[in-house]
Amino acid sequence: MSKQHEIAVIGGDGVGPEVTEAALAVLEATGAPFNFTHYQAGDGTLEATGVALPQETLDGAMKSEAVLFGAAGACAAQVILRLRAELKAWANLRPSKAYQGVPCLRPETDMMIVRENSEGMYFGGEDEPEPGKATATRIITDHASYRIARCAFEFAIQAGYGKVTAVHKVNVLKKTDTVFLEACRRAAKEFPQVAYEEALVDSVAMRMVLKPEDFQVIVTTNLFGDILSDLAAGLIGGLGMCPSANLGDGPALFEPVHGTAPDIAGQGKANPTAAILCAAMLLRHLGYTDKADAVEAAVAACLAQGQTTGDLGGPLGTMGMAQAVIERLGE
Ligand code: ATP
Ligand code: MG
Repeated sequence: MSKQHEIAVIGGDGVGPEVTEAALAVLEATGAPFNFTHYQAGDGTLEATGVALPQETLDGAMKSEAVLFGAAGACAAQVILRLRAELKAWANLRPSKAYQGVPCLRPETDMMIVRENSEGMYFGGEDEPEPGKATATRIITDHASYRIARCAFEFAIQAGYGKVTAVHKVNVLKKTDTVFLEACRRAAKEFPQVAYEEALVDSVAMRMVLKPEDFQVIVTTNLFGDILSDLAAGLIGGLGMCPSANLGDGPALFEPVHGTAPDIAGQGKANPTAAILCAAMLLRHLGYTDKADAVEAAVAACLAQGQTTGDLGGPLGTMGMAQAVIERLGE
């Protein structure tokens, strides 16, 4: 018998458990040798136990090979930010790809945003030296910039993309973005088979809307990556479609970009596409390329033929769509 991979499953709050169950059903149907263990976290757990992220959940995630995460509610910062930090997940990969059959602004969109996840504006801290005056510190290191740039180039090669765009604001953030860009250029030299360009974040925001096909892999710092990946999600038809991966030195964590969607939670109608595409990313990460391709193709086929949930105009519920994806796995 082949090796069993230990996968920690954290459904969390709101629609999190529902879309995660759909993704699990698809993973099980692929026949990949996974052993799933369920763990608690989120607002519900906080209410029941007094902690949002119990030690048992953290330990379970740490000893797994990968984590499948749903969504966390008001306590998200205590759960997902902490998990990313504990798992040393310094890279956040957010694909945005338009699918036939899904109403969207820019059907040409097919890009991956590789966002630095360990520093930037999120970890430098803020201060309020006097009332009415506050400061924020942006930390950019060569070490973190170089490793995220390498990650972007490696991803480009693995996924067959031909270009990496480093996104910055060096005309204003002269010191920090010089460190970032110099590290990116060093990485670019190691991957001469991939084209490399640099672009200012403001111009990228406009070009992404006007001509998204200009972009393949984008590598950028934490805050710019956060903003641009939501912009990219908007181009392809919204949050219900977007998976993400958090990668680094520990187990990888996969989560839909959307949140708990409290307005539709508990009704079995959440769109499981993002969660199922997370499952495909997880398969790819653990080396099951053929199975990942099969899941993505099955999702694309369902979307193209309207076998979707109500938010996309389809007739199916969450598990109904999962079932439709499963039925197409062999095609
Ligand atoms: P949170 O604070 O957890 O992010 P939120 O209220 O911001 O919660 P989101 O999950 O970010 O909610 O969703 C924003 C909107 O998109 C909601 O109207 C929600 O119903 C819709 N939405 C999000 N995810 C899905 C999904 N998987 N299927 C269908 N609709 C969704
Ligand atoms: Mg939200």
